Amino acid sequence: MNAEKEYFKIKAENLIKNFAKRNIDACFVENSKAAAEKVLELIQDKATVSWGGSKTLQQIGIFDQLKAADYRLLDRDTAKNSAEKEEIYHQALSADYYLMSSNAITQTGKLVNVDGNGNRLAALIYGPKNVIIVAGMNKVTVDEESAIKRVRNQAAPANAIRLDQKTPCVKTGYCHSCQVDDTICCQTVITRRSRAKGRIKVILVGEKLGF
Ligand code: SF4
Repeated sequence: MNAEKEYFKIKAENLIKNFAKRNIDACFVENSKAAAEKVLELIQDKATVSWGGSKTLQQIGIFDQLKAADYRLLDRDTAKNSAEKEEIYHQALSADYYLMSSNAITQTGKLVNVDGNGNRLAALIYGPKNVIIVAGMNKVTVDEESAIKRVRNQAAPANAIRLDQKTPCVKTGYCHSCQVDDTICCQTVITRRSRAKGRIKVILVGEKLGF
């Protein structure tokens, strides 16, 4: 028996019940392959689909599968200039489905996210008809405080490195509560409930994914 896999599964079972109390649909899958299959199963043909920047989405290999399927994609990486990119960010707010991960999740079922631009968080809060979150079980924390610590001292420095930002955390690996132009920590959003039942769907993955 793989004890870590079993641990993730047990933890997820409890978390799924806690999400349900918050109007958030959740399920558990064993691995990345099953996570990508579940994403595609949730999205209807011909739907408009967009996403926020995410190492997790990259790792599960969903982008090539989205491109091969019958969807209308709003992909900012196809923009020819910054004005087009901005336009895609705005169009994404009216997408049928918006994909993202969560920087952290409390074991009671709150989503904790920190963003620089805030386009990803805007979509999470309001706009897209459906938000699909894919998250490895390594992102689950005890409470809100530990979730924010996780984001600021682990996820954000790693993301700042990924995005080649000039922030103090890229040099030390922990947060300095910076106010530099490149900071990726302008907005912190705690999602404690979805007003629309089932609008947010969380796919918990029994693997370490993302930062
Ligand atoms: S140093 Fe700045 S960018 Fe890095 S985690 Fe802290 S607030 Fe965010």
